[in-house]
Amino acid sequence: MRLELEVGRTDLAPYRKPFNARGSRIERCQGCGLPDSTCICDYQVQAQAEVEFWLILHKKEQYKPTNTGRLIKDVLPNSRLFEWHRTEPPASLLALLQDSRYQPWLVFPADEERDQQRLQPFARQLGKTPVFILLDGTWRQARRMFRLSPWLQQLPLISFQPQAGSGYGLRKALEENHLCTAEVGIELLRLAQEPAAEVLQNYFQVFNVHYVAGRLGQSLEPAAAARAWLADYRRQQSGQVVQMTQEQV
Ligand SMILES: [Zn+2]
Repeated sequence: MRLELEVGRTDLAPYRKPFNARGSRIERCQGCGLPDSTCICDYQVQAQAEVEFWLILHKKEQYKPTNTGRLIKDVLPNSRLFEWHRTEPPASLLALLQDSRYQPWLVFPADEERDQQRLQPFARQLGKTPVFILLDGTWRQARRMFRLSPWLQQLPLISFQPQAGSGYGLRKALEENHLCTAEVGIELLRLAQEPAAEVLQNYFQVFNVHYVAGRLGQSLEPAAAARAWLADYRRQQSGQVVQMTQEQV
């Protein structure tokens, strides 16, 4: 039996289990997990970045339609996903942490004194790929994963100044001051001066508006500019592919 805990670099298949909470009776798109009427699959685009994201998912988070960590994986397919277990660290992640090709940071606010000495600013090392390790769950789950995972204790921490408060409409009431996982990804891409930040920003905007629209019956209009931006980006990307194919011929 395969005990590998890395969920896979290619596809997490986020809806393989039924999500038995509110809204679970709605017909959902198999691609994006949103109700069919607000599907965002047409706006899913990919980008490249010279940084990687490794997401450690709390198991309760994995199948939630509100999880935004998967948006990072959609935009940056080389992101890696691992499932967090209280007693068993993901073996493949432990191996990667020893791999000298990577330069990992754990993304967590060092709001307690004992964590502050672990802070290291973002700076690229020649020949290494910067990696941002995100604890993907609610704020409480992330804190629990942080404290209960001795194998994360050696990693440097990175923090950043968000440009704005969370614009995520879904969990706002629960987690007023915390950015959702996709927003953290956007901030980190900005910090690393990666153009993919803008791609993820627009994709997140579409997801956010479409999700709320599906849930509360609100208008899709607020995402119009972001949809247009992504459609344009997608056209440019496919134009590049066609051009490459022609050159190869
Ligand atoms: Zn869809």
